[in-house]
Amino acid sequence: MLPERTDVLVVGAGPTGLAVAATLAGHGVEATVVDRLARPPVTSRAAVVHAHTLDVLERIGAAAPLVARGIPSTRFTVRDRDRVLLSVPFRTLPSPYRYALMVSQTETEAVLAERLAARGGRVLRPYEMTGLTPDGDGATVRFAGGETVRARWVVGADGMHSRVRELAGIRFGGPADPGESFLLADVRVESALPRDQVALFLAGQGPLVWAPLPDGVVRLVATVPDAPRDPDAARLQALLDERGPVRRPDRVTELLWGSRFRIHHRVAETFRAGPVLLAGDSAHVHSPAGGQGMNLGICDAVALGDTLAEVLAGRPDTLLDGYAAARRPLAEEVASFADRLTRLATVPAAGRPLRNLLLRGISLLPPARHRIALRLAGLTHRPG
Ligand SMILES: Cc1cc2nc3c(=O)[nH]c(=O)nc-3n(C[C@H](O)[C@H](O)[C@H](O)COP(=O)(O)OP(=O)(O)OC[C@H]3O[C@@H](n4cnc5c(N)ncnc54)[C@H](O)[C@@H]3O)c2cc1C
Repeated sequence: MLPERTDVLVVGAGPTGLAVAATLAGHGVEATVVDRLARPPVTSRAAVVHAHTLDVLERIGAAAPLVARGIPSTRFTVRDRDRVLLSVPFRTLPSPYRYALMVSQTETEAVLAERLAARGGRVLRPYEMTGLTPDGDGATVRFAGGETVRARWVVGADGMHSRVRELAGIRFGGPADPGESFLLADVRVESALPRDQVALFLAGQGPLVWAPLPDGVVRLVATVPDAPRDPDAARLQALLDERGPVRRPDRVTELLWGSRFRIHHRVAETFRAGPVLLAGDSAHVHSPAGGQGMNLGICDAVALGDTLAEVLAGRPDTLLDGYAAARRPLAEEVASFADRLTRLATVPAAGRPLRNLLLRGISLLPPARHRIALRLAGLTHRPG
């Protein structure tokens, strides 16, 4: 049952909301976490957890159990059909986690929920937040069932179509049309591609990401105009034939899950409006190129949890302005990086030889490769 009052109400129990609540619980603060879904989703969605995110998750005891559920990818390669244009190793990363961890979002959410439970917290379901009235010392939040909760702080971790953001009057920058169309699927394939690397194929029709997951599964993500809602195995085979390896082509043997989504580069104009704080997809969305979205959300979440705990312990609430000011530029930067990766893939035919030459040149320069590894891993702002 919902409480009448709470210090922190977290709306949304995706990876961001769970990580905020688990962080707060680690500081001894019991947040109220609600989600409109009766059960957590079982679809895999984001498939990579980068080194910096693992560093951050270690602080809330979630890195080791997550590592146990995933597989390490030690290298990121950019390819044009059979040619490797750029190969970025993660072994030089300044982190105990010198790889990208390949693991489905369902597992990441399960580990975060376990961490929250181990610290005495839980998610209240199904409660859909429908109304929000902020005032001088908190906010009154209403739910679809007629319940009302009075909260000192409200965290909007309710995803891309955030009601919290909308009701707090925070503008979501960027175009309002549905944006670029992506097709994604988890498949089993017969393939000669190495299973310890993520491959980004740059094809004229658009990029194709080939990413190994545990249990021999491969995640495919591609930009496709008007992607079908339920892609079939033949569609994915056609995608691999069109954009993947030629000499030793992949063969799809099983389709486990497929979906589509549309996305734009959008960042909220502020991550704080009085008692309302945004984190994760409610604050920023962008192309999945580089697998940055969920990672950024988890890092927002732990930073916000730490800051809220300090404020609840008596420090000035201007610390939360610091949270908003520090995280927003990072979101802009990550969104631009994802855009650049996508643009690299869709260079017109005439420019492709030059692009490929450039990438092969970068491949020969270890410092340049290292900078790309840092960027992918989320470690650019840490000493390298
Ligand atoms: C089909 C699909 C594929 C994706 N693939 C990738 C990928 O390959 N790589 C990648 O990096 N990212 C991918 N993403 C994006 C990734 O899933 C998100 O970045 C990540 O889930 C963000 O986490 P979050 O917790 O901020 O938001 P979400 O995971 O969206 O969680 C928001 C939660 O809030 C709840 N909620 C919403 N509104 C309300 C309300 N009014 N009241 C109560 N609860 C509410 C929802 O039920 C949900 O549980 C994909 C997303 C989708 C949908």
